[in-house]
Amino acid sequence: MMDSVYADVVRRNPGEPEFHQAVHEVVETLAPVFEHRQDLLDAKMLERVCEPERQIIFRVPWQDDNGTVHVNRGFRVEFNSALGPYKGGLRFHPTVNLGIVKFLGFEQIFKNALTGVNIGGGKGGSDFDPKGRSDAEVMRFCQSFMTELYRHLGEHTDVPAGDIGVGGREVGYLFGQYRRITNRWEAGTITGKGLAWGGSNVRTEATGYGTVTFTAEMLKTAGEDLDGQQVVVSGSGNVALFAIEKAHQLGANVLTCSDSTGYVVDDKGIDLDLLSQIKLQERGRVATYAERRGGSARFVEGGSVWDVPCDIALPCATENELNEDAAKTLVGNGVKAVAEGANMPCTPEAVQVLRQAGVRFGPGKAANAGGVAASGLEMRQNAVRDSWSFTTAEGQLEEIMRSIHTICYETSARYGAPGDYVLGANIAGFERVADAMLAQGLI
Ligand code: GLU
Repeated sequence: MMDSVYADVVRRNPGEPEFHQAVHEVVETLAPVFEHRQDLLDAKMLERVCEPERQIIFRVPWQDDNGTVHVNRGFRVEFNSALGPYKGGLRFHPTVNLGIVKFLGFEQIFKNALTGVNIGGGKGGSDFDPKGRSDAEVMRFCQSFMTELYRHLGEHTDVPAGDIGVGGREVGYLFGQYRRITNRWEAGTITGKGLAWGGSNVRTEATGYGTVTFTAEMLKTAGEDLDGQQVVVSGSGNVALFAIEKAHQLGANVLTCSDSTGYVVDDKGIDLDLLSQIKLQERGRVATYAERRGGSARFVEGGSVWDVPCDIALPCATENELNEDAAKTLVGNGVKAVAEGANMPCTPEAVQVLRQAGVRFGPGKAANAGGVAASGLEMRQNAVRDSWSFTTAEGQLEEIMRSIHTICYETSARYGAPGDYVLGANIAGFERVADAMLAQGLI
């Protein structure tokens, strides 16, 4: 049955390898569920969960600072709303296409289910490349994008947020245009907002913080912690920056960061103030970090950050950034744990290598759920026009991350594979969504 469902997905969604990969990874772990859940089998729950409820594709015309007209493509895939309004970020990156958005939306269903907050799964974005664009250009693009997307959104319908290429600046422009078109100050319609206008403390930090909390929980099952561990982080965006911060807070030493041009190794540990200044203030490249840091850091053009020996690896850049060879190198260097801060950064072959070597592996659906969990908390505050302190919001986030770890661990143990977090996350996420769908009838 599982094979034919997967074959059908491939047949009906041609040319979408990332979506196939995401589905395959889930489908291959669900067989034990169907062995004792004939009701889910009869209801064709697997087939239903693989088919988005709605897919929206639209034209986004905009004008650059020289007056030249550009046309981009916008997407929103509203994948599953059994547990709550569609929820998931928007990605602005030249690689965005329908298959990418579907893979991200599919992952989001199970990730969001694991948070225990009432949010469904969705994802969106555009092949617009914000790199090198002025603020005014980004604003015009966001306004055009929202002028079409707004009709599909709403605090009870679909609630986007950021992802790669969409941060506080873009969320601001998007929210402004939504407000203008609808004449509604509907804070709960998008998350990742500024603190003064409906945003939540810890939303910016949440994905990176949560990934490290999840890693600490995995280590705890072996009586270990992060103190004194050498950590390799990839990426230098929002997820990476705050993973570095939390890892340092817990006593680890983060040696690296990276971007599409190469990586930086800093023997003294990454100086987060300097990196934040370059990345957030100047929107610069990591090579600049090495230039300014002085003796302890060097920039390696092109190479693989996974060549750097470490105890813990946190891929926080993008999909399929850690392949089989990289996983073998990490294992050879004695890595103890790998947690996915990005969505699907490890290839299936890499995951196989890590699991076979007994490396603790936190899949993205569980390990990077902190971002969307904090978005859920932002929606909760918006619903009652409240605003929590940093400490309260961080406490709630940590509680959710620990509970995700517990659910995944306990589910893996219940199915006879304690510590297999891939199995635990997929099954626990799927069971929640499938049971909700079953209870709601043939929808
Ligand atoms: N883009 C983030 C993710 O991959 C967060 C989405 C959200 O906050 O809605 O989970």
